Amino acid sequence: MRAQTRNKKIKMTEIHSGPQAISMGVDRLRDQRLVAFPTETVYGLGANALNAQAVDHVFSLKGRPSNNPLIVHVSGIEMAKTVVQEWTPEAEKIAQTFWPGPVTMVLEKGSSVPSNVCADGSTVAVRCPAHPCALALIEAFGYPIVGPSANPSGWISPTTPEHVVDGFKDADLLVIDGGHCRAGIESTVVDLTQDSIQILRLGVVGAHELEETLGHTVSSPICRSEVDSDTDQVRSPGMIGAHYQPRTKTKLINTADLEAAKFDQALISWSIKSHPADGQLIEIPESMSDYASQIYRALHDADRHGNTEIWVEPPSINQGNTQERAIYEAVMERLKRATHA
Ligand code: AMP
Ligand code: MG
Repeated sequence: MRAQTRNKKIKMTEIHSGPQAISMGVDRLRDQRLVAFPTETVYGLGANALNAQAVDHVFSLKGRPSNNPLIVHVSGIEMAKTVVQEWTPEAEKIAQTFWPGPVTMVLEKGSSVPSNVCADGSTVAVRCPAHPCALALIEAFGYPIVGPSANPSGWISPTTPEHVVDGFKDADLLVIDGGHCRAGIESTVVDLTQDSIQILRLGVVGAHELEETLGHTVSSPICRSEVDSDTDQVRSPGMIGAHYQPRTKTKLINTADLEAAKFDQALISWSIKSHPADGQLIEIPESMSDYASQIYRALHDADRHGNTEIWVEPPSINQGNTQERAIYEAVMERLKRATHA
């Protein structure tokens, strides 16, 4: 494709796939423009992480408060080292075990990273995503890219290209189509800059797995939405209060109470096979990792349908399995914030 076609300004958000989408994406990143790209967790809103102006476009398109820092996505350990002040032994162990994958590390920021990426703080969050399109895009661009979830701030994260378009209908935005995101919820964020290692955002990789890798304790708050001390707000502003919200009022409903649903109350459920009042039923798998993978898609579907409420049946939990437990806690944290009044 000729350069002038590739570089054309897009007036409506467009979805493209394959190698051509990657090369269009790279051209746009070089022009300090935005590219939504798939990762194994959710779709990210990509921009050149080393250019403050490109990063500003991300904040303004998302409507994201400037005090909420962005995650820098890299293609591997060597690129990660270029954005941090010091690559610590803990960072090396975590990267060797979980990268490419859904673990984001907070480390002291390197001087190459513009301050708006880090909300003027001294730390930077960095992760290597496990998705061939994301890795191809970063490798072909040759530099790290910021990649907050590709949705307007506060909305449900996108797990398909259509969700991105739904959030940003007429933006100058290219969406690289990588299908549905496998993990379906955002990465675990772990802070390595303090004396004790702490999970700031729960994800599919839990404290137990990190402890096994590091050989020491990792603290894991049960639900960040319940944390409101000043110190925690400063350490991670994105973890507090309402977030991940559909436009439709959403409630958590116990299995026994689902039968009371009226026609205009959509149900997201793993236990029932038909809606008691013939309203919208979105079946979700009972298995914990499949539930996590499908929950945002289910919320998006219910949200599009003109319901007055969305009722969500929480996942059931197998107490014995630590990995399932970690995913359960991460999903419950998202659901509590989706239903936060
Ligand atoms: P998202 O917008 O889904 O990519 O979310 C990224 C999350 O990582 C937000 O909740 C941020 O608050 C958090 N985050 C990013 N950078 C940092 C940082 N340097 N320190 C603490 N939390 C961070
Ligand atoms: Mg987000």
